[in-house]
Amino acid sequence: MEIKILGGAREVGGSCISVEADSCKVALDYGIKLDEKETKKFPTDFDAVIISHAHLDHTGSLLSLSKYNPTIVGSEITRDVTVDLLHDMVNIQTEKGNFEYKEHHAERIRQCWWARDSIALAGMKIKLQPAGHVAGAKVTSIEAEGKKIVYTGDICTHDTEILQGCKLDTLPKRPDMLITESTYGGKVRVPRQKLIDELMEDLLKTMDNKGNVLIPTFAFHRSQEMARRIDNAITNGCLPRYNVYTISNLAHKINDYFNQYKTLFTKEVRKQKMPFRYRHVKHLYRTAQIEEPAIVICTSGFGHAGASLRLLKDWAGDKHNSVILTSGYLPPDSPLKTAKEEGYFKIEDETFDVQALVKQIELSGHADQNQLIEIVNKLKPSRTVLVHGDIEQAEALAEKIGEMTDVCIPERNDTIDL
Ligand SMILES: [Zn+2]
Repeated sequence: MEIKILGGAREVGGSCISVEADSCKVALDYGIKLDEKETKKFPTDFDAVIISHAHLDHTGSLLSLSKYNPTIVGSEITRDVTVDLLHDMVNIQTEKGNFEYKEHHAERIRQCWWARDSIALAGMKIKLQPAGHVAGAKVTSIEAEGKKIVYTGDICTHDTEILQGCKLDTLPKRPDMLITESTYGGKVRVPRQKLIDELMEDLLKTMDNKGNVLIPTFAFHRSQEMARRIDNAITNGCLPRYNVYTISNLAHKINDYFNQYKTLFTKEVRKQKMPFRYRHVKHLYRTAQIEEPAIVICTSGFGHAGASLRLLKDWAGDKHNSVILTSGYLPPDSPLKTAKEEGYFKIEDETFDVQALVKQIELSGHADQNQLIEIVNKLKPSRTVLVHGDIEQAEALAEKIGEMTDVCIPERNDTIDL
């Protein structure tokens, strides 16, 4: 078999791996690197494209497959969220100028989707199992030519408030090859509960001062997780009553999927009738509807655009306000990055001074270094290929697992024979 790393090598973004056996050829993910000027085109001659989860860095190139009638395999919620995100991408790019894809290309992806947990192709068996990370995320196992490959996609082995972590005991043991993400290959994280306590303390402080809190968040999963967390804290009396809003039509739509597919979540979530219909968190369509002081969970997650950019402009100058970032990664051109690191941000030619507290509380859905080591330790792969991580992160992990498995950190377009 031949494994070719088409994207997501030594970086986060644009994940795509080709697995070619004698009898058939599949792609693992078909992502896009959003901050890249020129989008790389992947081959289109796959018998099937297996999608690990709905994030655009794993799905964003699917539009380019729409005219080839592809077989796309992934979970139901991954299909629904992916198609919505692709629609969103079509709208944003069309507004910016000429974009070769239209709404019907996104819809075509839905029609080509096989929502199932296993598929048998000529001489190849594929199985998908829960990966943690986000709702519907899957680990993919492939058996072909007497060999076993396990691809983690993005993986999280710890439970969060709404989602169970990946159950490593259920994954195939001793694969010939493990292809794993390494986003936090060099990082050991602070225990999650400590971070949540810190978040609650920061919220309380700002609420005591009658300040506004901006929480820029991704529309899928992180928004629902945060809204439910704050909603529960107010219900339980851990936080006082306050104006709490979400402003993202996409996030609002995804709430419905979360209610519809509630069996994906923890026992606690499943026992509620509508677990993502909140008591204290209201959905707004526009920032003009906000009654201050308020806590606002909104897109974009990186503060580039939308409500989060507008509110950053309005609120950053006041020391009573706070901005809470829950993503570990901020692109270099994100206004949130200079706001956090240098106390200002620029929009076009205008510079804005930051007086508000800007804090990063990384509530990540990725395995950290210890968890990645545990994955290797439990699965005991002969070879391990590190993808989806900057080179420093991948190298730090390689050093830790080098005695347990044969490790490689491929470059883009490298081919590995198995
Ligand atoms: Zn992801």
